[in-house]
Amino acid sequence: MLKRLKSMTGMTGEDGLPAQRLLTGWGRTAPTLATVSRPTTEADISRLMTASPERGLIARGLGRSYGDPAQNAGGSVLDMTGLNHVHHFDVENGLIGVEAGLSLQQLTSMVLPFGFFLPVSPGTQFVTVGGAIASDIHGKNHHVDGSFCNHVTAIDILTPTGERQTASPEQNAGLFWATAGGMGMTGIILRATLKLPRVETSRIVVDTDRTRDLDEVMHLQQSGDERYQYSVAWVDCMARGSSLGRSILMRGNHAMLQDLKSGERATALSTRPGPGVTAPPFVPPGLLRTSSVKLLNQAWYRKAPCQERDALHTIKQFFYPLDWIGEWNRFHGPLGFLQYQFVVPDTRHDIVRTIIEALADGGWPSSLAVLKRMGPARGPLSFAIPGWTLAVDIPAGIPDLNELLDHFDDLVADAGGRIYLAKDSRMRPELLPVMYPQLMSWRDTVAQIDPQRIMRSDLDRRLRLRAEG
Ligand SMILES: Cc1cc2nc3c(=O)[nH]c(=O)nc-3n(C[C@H](O)[C@H](O)[C@H](O)COP(=O)(O)OP(=O)(O)OC[C@H]3O[C@@H](n4cnc5c(N)ncnc54)[C@H](O)[C@@H]3O)c2cc1C
Repeated sequence: MLKRLKSMTGMTGEDGLPAQRLLTGWGRTAPTLATVSRPTTEADISRLMTASPERGLIARGLGRSYGDPAQNAGGSVLDMTGLNHVHHFDVENGLIGVEAGLSLQQLTSMVLPFGFFLPVSPGTQFVTVGGAIASDIHGKNHHVDGSFCNHVTAIDILTPTGERQTASPEQNAGLFWATAGGMGMTGIILRATLKLPRVETSRIVVDTDRTRDLDEVMHLQQSGDERYQYSVAWVDCMARGSSLGRSILMRGNHAMLQDLKSGERATALSTRPGPGVTAPPFVPPGLLRTSSVKLLNQAWYRKAPCQERDALHTIKQFFYPLDWIGEWNRFHGPLGFLQYQFVVPDTRHDIVRTIIEALADGGWPSSLAVLKRMGPARGPLSFAIPGWTLAVDIPAGIPDLNELLDHFDDLVADAGGRIYLAKDSRMRPELLPVMYPQLMSWRDTVAQIDPQRIMRSDLDRRLRLRAEG
């Protein structure tokens, strides 16, 4: 019987059958129920697309978006992690063709021994290639290398009309750029070809500066970031007065062979899988409240050296410090949390200060805040614009939090900035066209690609991404 059902649904996933599951994003807010399937072949996906229910369908990667773009209440969700093969790897030119469900962690462990790395690394390696394209993600090198899709030379996508199409910046460019940052609304990305940068080692040479305040860190970033491929500042958003915005600025470049001690050169491209721990399944609410977050931020700040030059960090230490703790999102308790991430143009750096000041003065328990510089991006819904981006975690369910963030949204929108859709879980839909001025042209493109409105998600419904119709 099971075998027969499997052949009917085309599923060969974990238990082989679509299942009703409550899904959330990484923030663990707003769970919704969907029929989740885990296809393992492209033929499975075609069948699921053809049989999509009235409430439509959406792809899901590793669910690392904070809000609801990979959820679809009452509809279908395709867990893409079963499609994780490498199709070709041109080691001469660093071109690799992979299935969209491959994670960046799997990809790195395959290509690093050949002397290649990811062109763009987010703050966790547990995201899929499909998710990275659909959010056109950015890393600590955006000021130099731009967003993820700048390094994608082609995608194969199953569009909602059931056609398999190849798109690249040169061929079928409308579909390509509508997909880059398009939050899954143009179809199911099946495969992608990526151009990988060469590296000599798996280490980063890091300079660290602990700054007294926000002015100092912004000055250092503005005046010196171009000397580094990677730059990120961890900001204590709870420090007030003369310490407002005090930060730990970490900037680095890939280490060359000569930067390693002679004894380490033979294993220059190895990665040591460090120890890891997992957060307990239940953490009581209120663990991360104002007083505890203040202490955590303080400890993080004080533990950093005042100034350090040329320290060698592993890839994991530098790029993915949070990945040491599995399921760390549980620490925010059953109500979950949100990440508020915005970008404002260079000329409006005052907004960064205003927002940090409001968070600090109001005693909001804001942790893990990150400040980075950005360059331009090409997709109509890609997040990046040249300027400053700040991302900050705040527990959900605090009274008046929504009003505060609505106020921040208005400041950001008035300044010509925007909120990152991959992190959003609460924005007002009327701000979307203000923040994303190319929204209308993106909608026109998507209307042609998906006339029947097959692709649907909770984010789409909440923000009216595709508008009414
Ligand atoms: C700790 C942490 C740190 C992070 N740091 C960064 C950062 O530095 N920079 C940054 O830009 N982002 C960052 N993110 C966000 C993350 O990179 C994005 O949300 C990314 O899209 C998640 O990928 P995923 O595979 O988990 O996709 P999901 O979250 O499962 O889905 C995200 C979107 O991708 C779509 N999608 C997924 N697969 C496909 C497919 N095959 N075809 C079509 N659409 C698809 C989904 O429909 C959805 O719209 C971070 C997240 C976490 C949890």
